[in-house]
Amino acid sequence: MADPRPSGEREPSRGPEADPLDLKSCRLCPRRCAVDRTAGEKGFCGLGDGIVLAGAWPHFGEEPPISGERGAGTLFFSSCNLRCPFCQNHQISHRPRGKNVTVDELASIMLDLQERGCHNVEAVTPTPQMPLVLASLRRARERGLRVPFIHNNGGYEDPALIRSLKGAVDIYLPDLKFASEERSAFYAGVRDYLPRAVAAIREMASQVGDRLETDRGVAVRGLLVRHLVLPGDTANSLAVLKIIRSEISPRVPLSLMAQYSPVAAVRGHPTLGRRVRADEYEEVLEAALDMGFEELYIQAVDERDLVPDFDREEPFAWYRGQ
Ligand code: SF4
Repeated sequence: MADPRPSGEREPSRGPEADPLDLKSCRLCPRRCAVDRTAGEKGFCGLGDGIVLAGAWPHFGEEPPISGERGAGTLFFSSCNLRCPFCQNHQISHRPRGKNVTVDELASIMLDLQERGCHNVEAVTPTPQMPLVLASLRRARERGLRVPFIHNNGGYEDPALIRSLKGAVDIYLPDLKFASEERSAFYAGVRDYLPRAVAAIREMASQVGDRLETDRGVAVRGLLVRHLVLPGDTANSLAVLKIIRSEISPRVPLSLMAQYSPVAAVRGHPTLGRRVRADEYEEVLEAALDMGFEELYIQAVDERDLVPDFDREEPFAWYRGQ
C-alpha cells in the first residue's frame, strides 16, 4: 500500500539509538518537541515526567463490547497532543489538570478498576504519558491485572511509539477525525494529522488484527476505529470512510459517533455551534453501509447536552440517567 504522505512529510531518520519512549528528548507523538521533560522542559502538551491523571471511573457510555454490563475501566489522562477547540473533554485535554500519581499508585488504580468489575482498563489519551503508563501496566500485570488493556487515542500518533507497544496493548480504540490536511489544519491546527493517523492505525491493525474479538459480547482483543461526525461537514466524514476502507481495512469495526455537543468556545460558530442533525448523521451512516462496513456501532441523534463535566464526581453520569 502506498505511503499517503507527500514526500516532504516522510519521517526523518531517527538513527539506530532513538527510543520512542524517551522523555529526555520527547518524541512520543508527531509534535516531536524534543524537550527534556526530565529536566522540567515542557513541550506542546505541557506535561513533565510524572503522571497526571484527571480521573478513573467505570464508564457505561462506550460501545457495547467496550462497556459491557459492568463498565469500561476508564483512566482519563490529562492533556492531549491535539487541542481541538470543540473537544468535549476540553477541561482536561487543553492543559494538564488532575492528580499527580506515581507508577505504583496508577497500578493500584488499574487493579481497583478490575476489582470493581470493569471489563478492561481503558487508557484515554495516554500517549504523552505512555512510558509511565506502560510501567504501571507492567506492575499491575505482575500484581494480578488480568483484564484487557485498551489504548484509546485521537489518532495523532507516531507509528514508532505504537510499534513499541506491541504485546502490551490488547485493544486499540483510535479516532480517525479528519480526511485532509486542510480539514485537520482548520479543526485542530495540524497539517499532518491524516498521514500520521493512517500509518499509526495500520500499525495497530498489524499488532491486534483488523477485527474486534469478543468473549460473551465483551471485547478481548482487536481494533475499533471511531469517527465523530461533525455538524455541517458530512463531506469530511464521507472522505474519512473512504480512507478507512481503502487505506486501513474494509473489515474494521467502525463506530460512528453522533454525540458532538458544542462547548462554550465554539457556541457562536455557524456549524460547530450546533449539534449534528439527524439527516447529516443518516447520510454518513448510509454511506458506511453502502461501502460495505459490516460491524457498525451507531448512536442516536438527540437533544441531550453530552459534554462531560470533569468537575463532577462522575463526569459521565448522564449515561446512567443521573
Ligand atoms: S508528548 Fe508532549 S512534549 Fe512529547 S512530543 Fe508530544 S506534545 Fe511534545
